[in-house]
Amino acid sequence: MLAGIGESARINVRITETAWAFLTMRNLLLAATLMSIATITPAVADFSSCVNGLKAAARKSGISRAVVAEALDGVRYDEEVLRRSRSQPEFKTPIWDYLGFLVDEERVEDGRAVMREHDRILRAAEDRFGVNRYVIAAVWGVESNYGQDTGKFFLPHALANLVCAGGRRTKFWRGELLATLKIVDRGDLRMNKLYGSWAGAFGQTQFIPSTYLRLAVDFDGDGRRDLVDSVADALGSTANYLKRAGWKRGESWMIEVKAPRGYKGPKGRRNRASLASWAKRGVVRADGKRLSGGTNAALLLPAGSRGPGFLVFRNFNAIYAYNHAESYALAISYLADRIAGYPALRTPWPTDDPPLSRAERLHLQELLIAQGYDIGEADGKIGPITRAAIKKAEQAFGMKPTGRPGGKIYKKLGGG
Ligand code: CA
Repeated sequence: MLAGIGESARINVRITETAWAFLTMRNLLLAATLMSIATITPAVADFSSCVNGLKAAARKSGISRAVVAEALDGVRYDEEVLRRSRSQPEFKTPIWDYLGFLVDEERVEDGRAVMREHDRILRAAEDRFGVNRYVIAAVWGVESNYGQDTGKFFLPHALANLVCAGGRRTKFWRGELLATLKIVDRGDLRMNKLYGSWAGAFGQTQFIPSTYLRLAVDFDGDGRRDLVDSVADALGSTANYLKRAGWKRGESWMIEVKAPRGYKGPKGRRNRASLASWAKRGVVRADGKRLSGGTNAALLLPAGSRGPGFLVFRNFNAIYAYNHAESYALAISYLADRIAGYPALRTPWPTDDPPLSRAERLHLQELLIAQGYDIGEADGKIGPITRAAIKKAEQAFGMKPTGRPGGKIYKKLGGG
């Protein structure tokens, strides 16, 4: 869950590792607040009696004693899980930074490589569920960087912390904890495979446990649903998810368009109209082809009429269902197009300070370190410490301090 995170009351909490890496980039002024929250610890007795209650509930729901003990004996208060659960992004990330991070050339190239490597599986998934294989690969790429970044938190402990010390949405977390134990109890996964994001999203495509129970499929036919180590099960399950979310075989998901300058007409995901009516309103395809016909689409202008526009179709909504944020669905849609060989966006974003790729973010950190800024080790993740250093560097160059990892400061530091 990414851009919609501030609206967590409305939507599912499905915070993946990629999402977290991205969110941490937004947390600039937040560190001080978090430090003070993190020092509030519940009474130890309350915590352990809550955990005992969870164990009893798990046993009552039929989960074996051995599984319950292995999962919850030794659970401790985990400050990091709680800190992350309480943080809120404090400023809105520009859409171009968001897409620059998630759809950089590296992820496009890696996507083409996995398409070749897993061609048979992706074609089989497309054939059985009707979901375009480039979109399946794009979900994999955004959710876990094609299985490389799946999360470090032991789910039973993280979820027990959220129930017993989180103080919010405890019913939801409790349900996810029981689902986690069921996945092990029914033999789909071993306990030592249950590592994921602090919020319980795990495996190659970052399903939360209740979704796993509901929608995971055994696509390699070995009798277990293994979304951690089986690429086939993971990709088949993603296709199943998108199909259940309303994906229609053979239909498009998005096309790049251009709205007239100063466009004030209808827009947004809920304002659907035929392609012909969009053409009448002055919307044109970015590739110069004719826009016509009765197919319904909605117009998205994430950066206003000066930036790229997108007509999105029913299948875009299936992607949106995976993770309720338009920016997320745009990233998947665009990455899928790029993996499939379509060109980069034709209309530039309305900014003179372009976004950086992941490789450039890493290089930016190395440049900061070389200039004497103490940001620890360069890891490509732009957290509060890196942002603070970027601000200082911007000030040193006489620029407006933003803390944003953009092209201008990168160039000033000697990159690009
Ligand atoms: Ca399997």
